[in-house]
Amino acid sequence: MKEIKVFSNILEANDRLAEQNRKNLAEKKVTALNLIGSPGCGKTTLLENTLKIIAERDEIKAAVIEGDIATSRDAERLRKFDIPIVQINTEGACHLDAGMVCSVMDDLPLDEIDLLFIENVGNLVCPADFDLGERGKVVVISVTEGEDKPQKYPEIFLNSACVTVNKTDLLPYLDIDIEKLYNDIDTVRKGLPRYAVSAKTGEGCDAWVDWLESLCNYAPS
Ligand code: MG
Ligand code: ZN
Repeated sequence: MKEIKVFSNILEANDRLAEQNRKNLAEKKVTALNLIGSPGCGKTTLLENTLKIIAERDEIKAAVIEGDIATSRDAERLRKFDIPIVQINTEGACHLDAGMVCSVMDDLPLDEIDLLFIENVGNLVCPADFDLGERGKVVVISVTEGEDKPQKYPEIFLNSACVTVNKTDLLPYLDIDIEKLYNDIDTVRKGLPRYAVSAKTGEGCDAWVDWLESLCNYAPS
């Protein structure tokens, strides 16, 4: 039982810092989204296509916090967009926590941005437990991961504001039935908003960016 107590203390400390982040972001009217998904599901590629559309529309200003165990490769991939990017290396930790996000908040021009993407470490499990102070979590899964992930990893689907189903360009080559995947999502969380996208070809990304922009119109209380 001792270990469970330690874990709940860690989460309590995390939640306090998360509230501080949330307050800070709300004051600056920044909508922060915590992107969570397995390694290789296409989080960074989705960000590339999303940032391209956001730049073309020129309606909102975005920034990115990149979370990785090691390297700044993902941040390098986004460098071309000329937006604020901060890299956090967790040095082995398999998720971001609110303290890590808090420690880089001053490195971001919060007065100038509307939308902050926080790309979490590739992991479908414990990032679900750690509130970063975001407005919402977004779970990214790819169709190559199969139809059964929502029921196998329910917590992240329960805690997310939306799910993006990526790599739809691969559907002709796979046995997966996307309706079965949607049913699986509904079993865990009925009606969870979902966007089927191909971050590679851009198919479906406009509807996803519409959703993102609609969040930025929200005035946090
Ligand atoms: Mg990535
Ligand atoms: Zn972890």
